[in-house]
Amino acid sequence: MPLNYGEVAAWHLDPIEKKPLFHFYPGSWIFSVAGYGCNLSCTFCQNHEISQSCQQGTRVTPARLAELAQTKDSLGLCFTYSEPSTWFEMANDKTEEIRELSQWLRKLNTPLAWHLSRYFPAYKLDLPPTEKESLLKLWKLAQEEVEYVYLGNVSGGDSTYCPHCGKEVIIRENARILNLVQDGHCPECDYKFFGVGL
Ligand code: SF4
Repeated sequence: MPLNYGEVAAWHLDPIEKKPLFHFYPGSWIFSVAGYGCNLSCTFCQNHEISQSCQQGTRVTPARLAELAQTKDSLGLCFTYSEPSTWFEMANDKTEEIRELSQWLRKLNTPLAWHLSRYFPAYKLDLPPTEKESLLKLWKLAQEEVEYVYLGNVSGGDSTYCPHCGKEVIIRENARILNLVQDGHCPECDYKFFGVGL
């Protein structure tokens, strides 16, 4: 059993978009919880206060977590902030690598949403943040191969567009979500989107 078993470092009712999940019940909320520690120690960790320490937090049982996850307005339970298998951010600004990765993702032939998060200096890494222009370039490049590509840690780049007709179908402005998808389809051309609860 790990030392941090049952120790909660942080919990919040978060917008689902913050996970980030853009193709799963847009505009909904989910009870999000984090423990102390992480099996990685990334130099740019934005949550290093909890991911790189082991402290006493709020003790909780699985049953209590399940109960909290069912509170009003919560879609379920999300382990986040410090767990790499459920929350992994990418800070990669090499054009060739993004191109190769996009092509590999396309070959998987599986619907997916790809989130490119802008790097910011944090914890032990003080290199300058990814330039916005570079991120936009990578975004365009990735969109040549992958239908749904989003940007994180930067303004813009988080709306969902129909891959068929280009209509903006889920408009995301900070916490405001306007979902125009009709029963999983584009209201303009009836293209079927992948996702759950759209
Ligand atoms: S929480 Fe994420 S960014 Fe932080 S050390 Fe763990 S894997 Fe790295």
